[in-house]
Amino acid sequence: MDLRLTEQQEMTRNMARELAAKEIAPIAAEIDETGRFPKEVIQKMADAGLFGILTPPPFGGAGGDRLDYLLTVEEIAVASASVALSFETSVGVAFLVLAFGSDEQKKKYLPALAKGEKLGSLATTEPGGGANWPMTLRTRAVPDGDQYVVNGSKCFVSNTGQADICVVLVSTDISKGPMGISALIIERDTPGFSFGTLEDKFGLRGDPTGELIFEDCRVPKENLLGQEGDATKITGAFGALSCPAHCAIATGIARAALEASIRHTKERVVLAPLPLAN
Ligand SMILES: Cc1cc2nc3c(=O)[nH]c(=O)nc-3n(C[C@H](O)[C@H](O)[C@H](O)COP(=O)(O)OP(=O)(O)OC[C@H]3O[C@@H](n4cnc5c(N)ncnc54)[C@H](O)[C@@H]3O)c2cc1C
Repeated sequence: MDLRLTEQQEMTRNMARELAAKEIAPIAAEIDETGRFPKEVIQKMADAGLFGILTPPPFGGAGGDRLDYLLTVEEIAVASASVALSFETSVGVAFLVLAFGSDEQKKKYLPALAKGEKLGSLATTEPGGGANWPMTLRTRAVPDGDQYVVNGSKCFVSNTGQADICVVLVSTDISKGPMGISALIIERDTPGFSFGTLEDKFGLRGDPTGELIFEDCRVPKENLLGQEGDATKITGAFGALSCPAHCAIATGIARAALEASIRHTKERVVLAPLPLAN
């Protein structure tokens, strides 16, 4: 098996590495200290086409593969895990629209997500349930004509307050339990949709993690992603992309720590005149 990167993958990685070192690393400590969402950096990543890395060219993306994506996530995480988390969440949402969306949804949402003009988020977790969400999910979407009426709340959602396109898990048929959970695309400015508190986290503070609140929020039925009851399939597909991405973030953090340690041993002088590395 040949594990070497192709020329194209090397180019993708080098481009992400240069952008991360030049634009993200210098502000990484500041955004984590202040909890500021770095819109200017997101814009630069968007200008470089990174948000469209997995989206096919007809929808405005680069049409790369998962390895291109994971290499990019790792390079961004070397500079800032917060930015990498926001990035991978949004690219993951574009991937869901591509994989499960109707033709209309793809045309409507993919170009803006691929260009980074709009960010995405996925809302699964609720105050009453995390890892066990299929058994505990309480957010309801009750059919009413050609709409669903959504009531409930989500928490710990990445890109809260910054994402325009939120994929939200809701129960469309409570009698079916986990098989009655569906995914709706809910746009940021939909009446009845608001943001609650942001978490004051220990780390990853540049990625806003917070609450989404739905109060009689009317969502067109055409915003159903996939079919009713598809939530486990959809989150499974998301996980197959986001779990390796989280590993890439961890690898990026580890690489940054190793590189900083090596740099330190070359610069630190305790017994003059030689640095530790000697
Ligand atoms: C930085 C950050 C970003 C996040 N972004 C998002 C996001 O974008 N969207 C979103 O929906 N959520 C997001 N989350 C929430 C995340 O998905 C949840 O934290 C996760 O699902 C776990 O839920 P929990 O924290 O309630 O932990 P719990 O579900 O309470 O689990 C805690 C521990 O108990 C274990 N456990 C749980 N149930 C059982 C059981 N029955 N038996 C044995 N062990 C069990 C778990 O494996 C885990 O180790 C984010 C969280 C963080 C910290």
